[in-house]
Amino acid sequence: MSNQNIKLAKFAGFCYGVKRAVETAKKLKYENPEKNIYILGELIHNTDVINELESLGIKTIYEIPPKGNGICIIRSHGEAPDVFDKIKNAGFELVDLTCPDVKKVQQKAIELAKNDYFVVIVGKSNHPEVMAIKANADIYSSNVAVAANIEELKPFEEKIKVHKKVGVVVQTTQMVPSLNNIVNYINTIAKEVLIHNTICQSTAMRQKEAKELAKESDLMIVVGSKKSANTTHLAEILKDCTKTIHIENDAELETDYYKNAINIGITAGASTPQIIIDKVINKIKGGHNYDNTSS
Ligand code: SF4
Repeated sequence: MSNQNIKLAKFAGFCYGVKRAVETAKKLKYENPEKNIYILGELIHNTDVINELESLGIKTIYEIPPKGNGICIIRSHGEAPDVFDKIKNAGFELVDLTCPDVKKVQQKAIELAKNDYFVVIVGKSNHPEVMAIKANADIYSSNVAVAANIEELKPFEEKIKVHKKVGVVVQTTQMVPSLNNIVNYINTIAKEVLIHNTICQSTAMRQKEAKELAKESDLMIVVGSKKSANTTHLAEILKDCTKTIHIENDAELETDYYKNAINIGITAGASTPQIIIDKVINKIKGGHNYDNTSS
Protein backbone atom coordinates (compact mmCIF):
# COMPACT_ATOMS: atom_id res chain seq x y z
CA MET A 1 0.00 0.00 0.00
CA SER A 2 2.21 2.75 -1.37
CA ASN A 3 0.48 5.79 0.14
CA GLN A 4 1.09 4.67 3.71
CA ASN A 5 3.69 6.24 5.99
CA ILE A 6 5.11 3.85 8.54
CA LYS A 7 7.11 5.15 11.47
CA LEU A 8 8.83 2.99 14.02
CA ALA A 9 9.38 4.46 17.48
CA LYS A 10 13.02 4.84 18.53
CA PHE A 11 12.37 3.23 21.90
CA ALA A 12 10.64 0.14 20.53
CA GLY A 13 11.80 -3.31 21.59
CA PHE A 14 14.38 -4.56 24.08
CA CYS A 15 15.25 -2.25 26.98
CA TYR A 16 18.75 -2.39 28.46
CA GLY A 17 17.63 -4.65 31.34
CA VAL A 18 16.20 -7.27 28.98
CA LYS A 19 19.11 -6.97 26.55
CA ARG A 20 21.56 -7.48 29.40
CA ALA A 21 19.67 -10.56 30.64
CA VAL A 22 19.42 -12.24 27.22
CA GLU A 23 23.03 -11.48 26.26
CA THR A 24 24.44 -12.57 29.62
CA ALA A 25 22.49 -15.85 29.56
CA LYS A 26 23.89 -16.65 26.10
CA LYS A 27 27.41 -15.61 27.12
CA LEU A 28 27.26 -17.84 30.19
CA LYS A 29 26.39 -20.85 28.04
CA TYR A 30 29.07 -19.96 25.51
CA GLU A 31 31.73 -19.66 28.22
CA ASN A 32 30.51 -22.72 30.14
CA PRO A 33 29.40 -25.22 27.49
CA GLU A 34 29.81 -28.14 29.88
CA LYS A 35 27.58 -26.67 32.58
CA ASN A 36 23.81 -26.86 32.94
CA ILE A 37 22.32 -23.38 32.68
CA TYR A 38 18.84 -22.74 34.05
CA ILE A 39 16.66 -19.65 34.25
CA LEU A 40 14.08 -19.51 37.01
CA GLY A 41 10.89 -18.40 35.22
CA GLU A 42 10.72 -17.09 31.67
CA LEU A 43 13.61 -14.72 31.06
CA ILE A 44 11.32 -12.49 29.02
CA HIS A 45 7.72 -12.76 27.85
CA ASN A 46 8.51 -13.97 24.39
CA THR A 47 8.15 -17.55 23.22
CA ASP A 48 10.60 -17.18 20.30
CA VAL A 49 13.36 -15.99 22.63
CA ILE A 50 12.61 -18.73 25.19
CA ASN A 51 12.75 -21.34 22.40
CA GLU A 52 16.01 -19.89 21.08
CA LEU A 53 17.54 -20.09 24.57
CA GLU A 54 16.30 -23.70 24.91
CA SER A 55 17.94 -24.55 21.58
CA LEU A 56 21.23 -23.22 22.97
CA GLY A 57 20.82 -25.47 26.02
CA ILE A 58 19.57 -22.76 28.41
CA LYS A 59 16.54 -24.25 30.14
CA THR A 60 13.64 -22.42 31.74
CA ILE A 61 12.54 -23.96 35.04
CA TYR A 62 9.53 -22.95 37.11
CA GLU A 63 10.49 -24.58 40.40
CA ILE A 64 13.78 -25.03 42.19
CA PRO A 65 14.58 -28.74 42.47
CA PRO A 66 15.78 -29.95 45.91
CA LYS A 67 19.19 -30.77 44.38
CA GLY A 68 20.86 -29.48 41.25
CA ASN A 69 24.09 -28.45 39.62
CA GLY A 70 25.22 -25.83 37.17
CA ILE A 71 24.17 -22.20 36.97
CA CYS A 72 20.74 -20.87 37.90
CA ILE A 73 19.86 -17.37 36.67
CA ILE A 74 17.58 -14.90 38.44
CA ARG A 75 15.80 -12.99 35.67
CA SER A 76 15.42 -9.21 35.38
CA HIS A 77 12.19 -9.14 37.48
CA GLY A 78 14.16 -10.10 40.60
CA GLU A 79 13.18 -12.63 43.27
CA ALA A 80 12.37 -12.86 46.96
CA PRO A 81 15.41 -13.27 49.26
CA ASP A 82 14.38 -16.82 50.27
CA VAL A 83 14.48 -17.86 46.60
CA PHE A 84 18.16 -16.84 46.47
CA ASP A 85 18.79 -19.09 49.49
CA LYS A 86 16.87 -22.01 47.99
CA ILE A 87 18.88 -21.83 44.75
CA LYS A 88 22.20 -21.83 46.63
CA ASN A 89 21.09 -24.54 49.06
CA ALA A 90 20.08 -26.78 46.16
CA GLY A 91 23.70 -26.63 44.97
CA PHE A 92 23.43 -24.18 42.07
CA GLU A 93 25.82 -21.38 41.27
CA LEU A 94 23.59 -18.29 41.29
CA VAL A 95 23.80 -15.54 38.69
CA ASP A 96 21.63 -12.57 39.56
CA LEU A 97 20.39 -10.70 36.48
CA THR A 98 17.84 -8.59 38.33
CA CYS A 99 17.65 -5.31 36.39
CA PRO A 100 19.53 -2.58 38.30
CA ASP A 101 16.36 -0.44 38.09
CA VAL A 102 14.34 -3.18 39.79
CA LYS A 103 17.05 -3.51 42.47
CA LYS A 104 16.63 0.20 43.16
CA VAL A 105 12.90 -0.26 43.79
CA GLN A 106 13.62 -3.15 46.16
CA GLN A 107 16.15 -1.01 48.03
CA LYS A 108 13.73 1.93 48.31
CA ALA A 109 10.97 -0.36 49.60
CA ILE A 110 13.36 -1.86 52.19
CA GLU A 111 14.46 1.63 53.27
CA LEU A 112 10.85 2.75 53.75
CA ALA A 113 9.97 -0.43 55.66
CA LYS A 114 13.01 -0.04 57.94
CA ASN A 115 12.09 3.58 58.63
CA ASP A 116 8.59 2.66 59.77
CA TYR A 117 6.68 3.92 56.77
CA PHE A 118 3.49 2.16 55.73
CA VAL A 119 4.77 0.94 52.36
CA VAL A 120 2.52 1.14 49.31
CA ILE A 121 3.76 -0.61 46.18
CA VAL A 122 1.86 0.65 43.16
CA GLY A 123 1.61 -2.29 40.80
CA LYS A 124 -0.01 -5.61 39.98
CA SER A 125 0.06 -7.92 42.99
CA ASN A 126 0.57 -11.08 40.91
CA HIS A 127 3.43 -9.68 38.83
CA PRO A 128 6.78 -11.36 39.64
CA GLU A 129 8.60 -8.03 39.98
CA VAL A 130 6.03 -6.74 42.46
CA MET A 131 5.99 -10.00 44.42
CA ALA A 132 9.78 -9.77 44.78
CA ILE A 133 9.67 -6.11 45.88
CA LYS A 134 7.03 -6.95 48.49
CA ALA A 135 8.94 -10.00 49.73
CA ASN A 136 12.00 -7.80 50.30
CA ALA A 137 10.03 -5.17 52.23
CA ASP A 138 8.02 -7.79 54.19
CA ILE A 139 11.22 -8.84 55.97
CA TYR A 140 11.35 -5.48 57.74
CA SER A 141 7.69 -4.58 58.21
CA SER A 142 4.20 -6.05 58.36
CA ASN A 143 2.82 -2.81 56.92
CA VAL A 144 3.29 -3.35 53.20
CA ALA A 145 0.44 -3.15 50.69
CA VAL A 146 0.25 -3.62 46.92
CA ALA A 147 -2.35 -1.77 44.87
CA ALA A 148 -2.81 -1.22 41.16
CA ASN A 149 -5.64 1.26 41.73
CA ILE A 150 -7.53 3.10 44.47
CA GLU A 151 -10.06 0.28 44.96
CA GLU A 152 -7.27 -2.12 45.82
CA LEU A 153 -5.87 0.31 48.38
CA LYS A 154 -9.19 1.04 50.09
CA PRO A 155 -9.07 -2.03 52.39
CA PHE A 156 -5.90 -0.50 53.93
CA GLU A 157 -7.46 2.93 54.49
CA GLU A 158 -7.89 2.59 58.26
CA LYS A 159 -4.36 1.27 58.73
CA ILE A 160 -2.97 4.12 56.62
CA LYS A 161 -4.94 6.68 58.62
CA VAL A 162 -3.50 5.54 61.95
CA HIS A 163 0.01 5.16 60.59
CA LYS A 164 2.01 8.36 60.74
CA LYS A 165 3.94 7.99 57.49
CA VAL A 166 3.24 6.45 54.07
CA GLY A 167 5.99 5.67 51.59
CA VAL A 168 5.25 4.86 47.96
CA VAL A 169 7.28 2.92 45.38
CA VAL A 170 6.12 1.90 41.91
CA GLN A 171 6.45 -1.18 39.71
CA THR A 172 8.99 -0.13 37.06
CA THR A 173 6.58 -0.59 34.15
CA GLN A 174 3.53 1.17 35.59
CA MET A 175 1.77 4.12 33.98
CA VAL A 176 2.22 7.60 35.42
CA PRO A 177 -1.57 8.28 35.61
CA SER A 178 -2.06 5.15 37.79
CA LEU A 179 0.62 6.41 40.17
CA ASN A 180 -0.90 9.91 40.26
CA ASN A 181 -4.39 8.57 41.04
CA ILE A 182 -3.16 6.53 43.97
CA VAL A 183 -0.94 9.33 45.31
CA ASN A 184 -3.84 11.80 45.17
CA TYR A 185 -5.94 9.39 47.18
CA ILE A 186 -3.19 8.71 49.74
CA ASN A 187 -2.73 12.46 50.20
CA THR A 188 -6.34 12.70 51.38
CA ILE A 189 -5.94 10.05 54.11
CA ALA A 190 -2.28 10.13 55.24
CA LYS A 191 -0.45 12.71 57.35
CA GLU A 192 2.97 12.38 55.73
CA VAL A 193 3.65 10.94 52.28
CA LEU A 194 7.02 10.13 50.71
CA ILE A 195 6.90 9.20 47.03
CA HIS A 196 9.61 7.42 45.10
CA ASN A 197 8.62 7.41 41.45
CA THR A 198 10.47 4.26 40.46
CA ILE A 199 8.97 3.87 36.98
CA CYS A 200 12.14 3.10 35.04
CA GLN A 201 13.57 5.58 32.57
CA SER A 202 13.25 3.13 29.71
CA THR A 203 9.50 2.67 30.35
CA ALA A 204 8.93 6.42 30.83
CA MET A 205 10.74 7.29 27.58
CA ARG A 206 8.95 4.54 25.65
CA GLN A 207 5.52 5.75 26.83
CA LYS A 208 6.31 9.43 26.23
CA GLU A 209 7.67 8.89 22.74
CA ALA A 210 4.82 6.54 21.73
CA LYS A 211 2.27 9.17 22.81
CA GLU A 212 4.02 11.75 20.61
CA LEU A 213 4.01 9.35 17.68
CA ALA A 214 0.32 8.60 18.26
CA LYS A 215 -0.50 12.31 17.78
CA GLU A 216 0.58 12.14 14.15
CA SER A 217 -0.72 8.63 13.45
CA ASP A 218 -4.20 7.46 12.59
CA LEU A 219 -3.23 3.96 13.69
CA MET A 220 -0.78 2.78 16.34
CA ILE A 221 0.38 -0.82 16.39
CA VAL A 222 1.85 -2.12 19.64
CA VAL A 223 3.87 -5.29 19.17
CA GLY A 224 4.58 -7.67 22.02
CA SER A 225 3.30 -10.30 24.39
CA LYS A 226 -0.12 -9.88 26.02
CA LYS A 227 1.55 -11.27 29.19
CA SER A 228 4.03 -8.38 29.26
CA ALA A 229 3.05 -5.62 31.70
CA ASN A 230 4.91 -2.82 29.92
CA THR A 231 3.49 -3.80 26.52
CA THR A 232 -0.14 -3.93 27.68
CA HIS A 233 0.30 -0.60 29.51
CA LEU A 234 1.66 0.94 26.33
CA ALA A 235 -1.41 -0.19 24.40
CA GLU A 236 -3.72 1.12 27.14
CA ILE A 237 -2.08 4.55 27.08
CA LEU A 238 -2.18 4.82 23.29
CA LYS A 239 -5.86 3.83 23.09
CA ASP A 240 -6.65 7.21 24.63
CA CYS A 241 -4.65 9.01 21.90
CA THR A 242 -5.58 7.29 18.63
CA LYS A 243 -6.84 4.01 17.19
CA THR A 244 -4.53 1.36 18.61
CA ILE A 245 -4.14 -2.36 18.13
CA HIS A 246 -2.00 -4.70 20.23
CA ILE A 247 -0.63 -7.75 18.44
CA GLU A 248 1.88 -10.35 19.55
CA ASN A 249 3.43 -10.79 16.09
CA ASP A 250 2.85 -10.47 12.33
CA ALA A 251 0.66 -13.57 12.30
CA GLU A 252 -1.96 -11.65 14.31
CA LEU A 253 -1.90 -8.67 11.96
CA GLU A 254 -4.83 -8.80 9.55
CA THR A 255 -4.93 -6.54 6.48
CA ASP A 256 -8.31 -5.13 7.56
CA TYR A 257 -6.67 -3.61 10.64
CA TYR A 258 -4.42 -1.28 8.67
CA LYS A 259 -5.59 -1.10 5.05
CA ASN A 260 -7.34 2.28 5.50
CA ALA A 261 -4.66 3.90 7.68
CA ILE A 262 -2.36 6.52 6.12
CA ASN A 263 0.03 7.29 8.97
CA ILE A 264 0.91 4.18 10.93
CA GLY A 265 3.01 4.38 14.08
CA ILE A 266 4.65 1.26 15.46
CA THR A 267 6.04 0.66 18.90
CA ALA A 268 6.88 -2.44 20.90
CA GLY A 269 7.33 -3.60 24.47
CA ALA A 270 10.64 -4.13 26.24
CA SER A 271 10.52 -7.89 25.62
CA THR A 272 9.83 -7.76 21.87
CA PRO A 273 12.81 -8.81 19.71
CA GLN A 274 13.68 -6.64 16.71
CA ILE A 275 13.03 -9.50 14.28
CA ILE A 276 9.35 -9.62 15.31
CA ILE A 277 9.01 -5.85 14.86
CA ASP A 278 10.66 -6.10 11.42
CA LYS A 279 8.27 -8.85 10.33
CA VAL A 280 5.28 -6.69 11.26
CA ILE A 281 6.66 -3.74 9.32
CA ASN A 282 7.47 -5.87 6.29
CA LYS A 283 3.96 -7.29 6.26
CA ILE A 284 2.46 -3.80 6.15
CA LYS A 285 4.84 -2.15 3.77
CA GLY A 286 4.90 -4.95 1.25
CA GLY A 287 8.26 -3.85 -0.11
CA HIS A 288 8.17 -0.10 0.61
CA ASN A 289 10.66 1.73 2.80
CA TYR A 290 9.78 2.95 6.26
CA ASP A 291 11.10 5.72 8.47
CA ASN A 292 12.71 4.08 11.51
CA THR A 293 12.97 7.20 13.61
CA SER A 294 10.03 8.91 15.20
CA SER A 295 10.20 12.63 15.90
S1 SF4 B 1 11.61 -2.33 31.74
FE1 SF4 B 1 12.98 -1.04 32.96
S2 SF4 B 1 13.16 -2.08 34.93
FE2 SF4 B 1 12.31 -3.55 33.50
S3 SF4 B 1 14.08 -4.67 32.72
FE3 SF4 B 1 13.70 -2.97 31.31
S4 SF4 B 1 15.03 -1.28 32.04
FE4 SF4 B 1 14.84 -2.80 33.69
